[in-house]
Amino acid sequence: MTDTIFQKIIDKELPADIVYEDDLCLAFYDINPVAPIHVLIIPKKQIDKLSDSKEEDKDLLGHLLLVAGDIARKLEVGDAFRLVVNNGAGAQQTVFHVHLHLIAGRELSWPPG
Ligand code: AMP
Repeated sequence: MTDTIFQKIIDKELPADIVYEDDLCLAFYDINPVAPIHVLIIPKKQIDKLSDSKEEDKDLLGHLLLVAGDIARKLEVGDAFRLVVNNGAGAQQTVFHVHLHLIAGRELSWPPG
């Protein structure tokens, strides 16, 4: 299997502007931000997309959500932020390694389009 860009970032083969790291996950700024704050939170475990996750990934996925909340606090975005998971090519997923987009710092409209 060919490594994704995100695996290369986890392995420190590619640079990234890292916001947070622990044993289970890594968070870094999106290279092509859609808002003043746009951080990606990824598990270190390779899971191609959210719909491929299993019961055994429950704690890991919960951890990603808690980390997202911590990062939002750390970056002082207040309580106005959005978490997005694009699942599958039809939903604009382009990197097939599960990730949360944490988006904040501007007015966020709904529906997202
Ligand atoms: P998605 O379309 O949901 O798969 O999101 C993938 C995201 O990864 C996009 O927002 C890209 O801008 C971002 N991205 C791609 N390559 C890099 C990189 N080398 N460093 C940071 N973000 C990246």
